Amino acid sequence: SADEFDVIVVGAGVMGSSTAYQLAKRGHKTLLLEQFDFLHHRGSSHGESRTIRATYPEDYYHDMVNESYQMWEQAQSEIGFRVYFKARHFDVGPADAKSLLAVISTCRRKAIPHQVLDRRQVTEKFSGRIDIPEGWIGVSCDHGGVIKPTKAVSMFQMLALKHGAFLWDNTEVNGVTRDGVKGGVIVSTSNGDKFWGKKCVVTAGSWMRKLVKKVSGVELPIQPLETNVCYWRIKEGHEAKYAIGSDFPTFASYGKPYIYGTPSLEYPGLIKVAVHGGYPCDPDKRTWGPGVIPSSLKQWIEETFRGSVDSSGPAATQLCVYSMTPDEDFVLDFLGGEFGKDVVMGGGFSGHGFKMAPVIGRILADLVLTGEAEGIELKHFRIARFKENPGGNVKDFEDQVGQLTSAL
Ligand SMILES: Cc1cc2nc3c(=O)[nH]c(=O)nc-3n(C[C@H](O)[C@H](O)[C@H](O)COP(=O)(O)OP(=O)(O)OC[C@H]3O[C@@H](n4cnc5c(N)ncnc54)[C@H](O)[C@@H]3O)c2cc1C
Repeated sequence: SADEFDVIVVGAGVMGSSTAYQLAKRGHKTLLLEQFDFLHHRGSSHGESRTIRATYPEDYYHDMVNESYQMWEQAQSEIGFRVYFKARHFDVGPADAKSLLAVISTCRRKAIPHQVLDRRQVTEKFSGRIDIPEGWIGVSCDHGGVIKPTKAVSMFQMLALKHGAFLWDNTEVNGVTRDGVKGGVIVSTSNGDKFWGKKCVVTAGSWMRKLVKKVSGVELPIQPLETNVCYWRIKEGHEAKYAIGSDFPTFASYGKPYIYGTPSLEYPGLIKVAVHGGYPCDPDKRTWGPGVIPSSLKQWIEETFRGSVDSSGPAATQLCVYSMTPDEDFVLDFLGGEFGKDVVMGGGFSGHGFKMAPVIGRILADLVLTGEAEGIELKHFRIARFKENPGGNVKDFEDQVGQLTSAL
C-alpha cells in the first residue's frame, strides 16, 4: 500500500540520500524522510566543497575511500554532471607527528603513490606556493580532490528518485516502534503520519543522539559541534596559482590546531582554509554566531602561503555542524534491542565522512538488507566499542575543542 515500504531512511543528508539511492537501485521500495527542506543548511552536508583524500592513518578508511572514488565516478556518469573534481592531496606536519607517520605507513602498505618531502623539496614541488617550518615534512599524494557537497546530495536524491524511491521533506520523524502484529517497524512523524517499513535506516547527523535516545533509550556519544568554514582572499596577481587545475593541492596540516583546506574553486579569488574542530552545540539551538578565528590559523596562512593570501581575517565564512564521536570513528551498527537487525544506524561521521558517502550508502544498504556488509570490518564502527574502551583511543578532538573554546 501507499504507506508501506521495504526500507524507510530517516534523514536526507548525504548519508541518507546515498543509502536511499543504493536501496532503490537494488529494487527495494524506499522512503526517504527529511525534517527540513531538502538541501537545507542546518546539518552537515551543505556547502561548496569537501576534501577527498586517500591518505588516512588507518588502513580501514583507505579501503573505504578507494571504493568511494570508483563509486563517485559511477554516480557522476549515471547522472551526467560532475560533483567530484580531481586534485592532488598534500599533508604536512612535524616530522615526528604520530598521525602523519601513520599516514606514510598506510601509503606504503597500501601502495598509494606518494612522495615524502623535506622543506626544500616542498618549496620546489609547489614552486614556492607552500612553505613549511624547519623540522616539518610534507606528504604529496596523487589521490585527492574536491567534492561539491550540496550538488552531490542533490545528485543522490535525483538518482534515488530515478530508481523509484519516494522522497518527503518537511517531515520530522518523532518515533520508530516495533510493529508487534506483523513485524517490521512503524515510523511516526510530527505531522501525524505513520509509515510501515520492513526495515529502517537512521542517518540523522547531529540529531542522531537525540533521536536514537528517544526511540530506544540508547545513548550514543555523538557530540554536535558548530564550526566555521573560512574563505580567505588571495592577493591580487596570485589567484591563478592557488586555483583548482593549477596543480595546487587539497591540504591538511597535522600541527596544532589541525588545519585543512581546498584549492580556490567555489568563489574565484578565495581559498578555503579552516580548523578541524568546533564548539559543542544543541543542533536545535544553534548560536549562528560568527565563531572565533584562532590567531594560530591566521599565522599558519601567513607563513604557509608566504604572504600571498590575506591573513588578516576571512573574506567569507559559512557555518556547519560536525557530529563527533570520541575516537572520530563512525557509527555503523544495528540499533539492537527489540529492533534486532531491522534498524540500522549510520552516524558520528566526525567531520570526515563526506568523501565516503557512496560506500557508506552501500554499507548501510547491505546491513539493513542482509545483516552483513561485504568487505568491511565493522568492529571499528560498532557502538559496543564505546563501552569496551570508554575514553580510550581518543584522538586529537578533545584538544581541538579545548583550544577553540579557550580562545573565546
Ligand atoms: C565544516 C565541515 C567540513 C567538512 N569537511 C569535510 C571534508 O573535507 N571531507 C569529508 O569527507 N567530510 C567533511 N565533513 C564531514 C561531512 O560533511 C559529514 O560527515 C557529512 O555531511 C555527514 O552527513 P550526514 O548525512 O550524516 O549528516 P547531515 O548532513 O546532518 O544529515 C542528517 C539529516 O538528518 C535530518 N534529520 C535529523 N533528525 C531527523 C528526524 N527526526 N526526522 C527527519 N529528518 C531528520 C537532518 O535534518 C539532516 O538533514 C565536513 C563537515 C563540516 C561540517
